[in-house]
Amino acid sequence: MNYNIEKLKVRANHSCELCGLKGELYAYTVSPKEDDSIDHQVALCSICQNGIQSNNFSNTNHWRALMGSIWSELTSVQALSYRILHDLKSQDWAAETLESVFLDESIITWALAEVHKADNKVIHKDAYGNVLLSGDNVVLIENLNVKGINYMAPKGTQVKKIRLVVDNAEQVEGKINSDTIVIVTKFLKKA
Ligand SMILES: [Zn+2]
Repeated sequence: MNYNIEKLKVRANHSCELCGLKGELYAYTVSPKEDDSIDHQVALCSICQNGIQSNNFSNTNHWRALMGSIWSELTSVQALSYRILHDLKSQDWAAETLESVFLDESIITWALAEVHKADNKVIHKDAYGNVLLSGDNVVLIENLNVKGINYMAPKGTQVKKIRLVVDNAEQVEGKINSDTIVIVTKFLKKA
């Protein structure tokens, strides 16, 4: 028996902490928290859990329950409610709820951490849309003039163990003829 879920169910009074539905409950840890402390968890019914996991909140009538849950005393419930309301903010009722509620800045930061992370995430892709990772081997798909050293790397040149340029999704670093150079991802194919 999972000791945690039992504690959580008691806290939740055996009903979903977002929508109030009674029934089977699941422990959901509100990211970016990863531990299973119940302070970071929300007890969810299967409808809420499925919606959150699939990021599908189209069943608006169901999610109107957030107008109540956002006023919970539990910070995890506040953060999760805020996150979903933020996702739904194109709808008046959600926008109005977000405006009317007063939450601690730390809760809002928690709620929106993943949203900001997704916005800022730099993903490197080769010319064909394959995701590139540090350490990948790639092949040049065009002749490349290597700036500064007056050398042309021909199409088909292998570049081993590239490194991603952290803040620029269009650039990787790799060695050609023992020189480390920056290569634009649209000229690369993952090997
Ligand atoms: Zn629910």
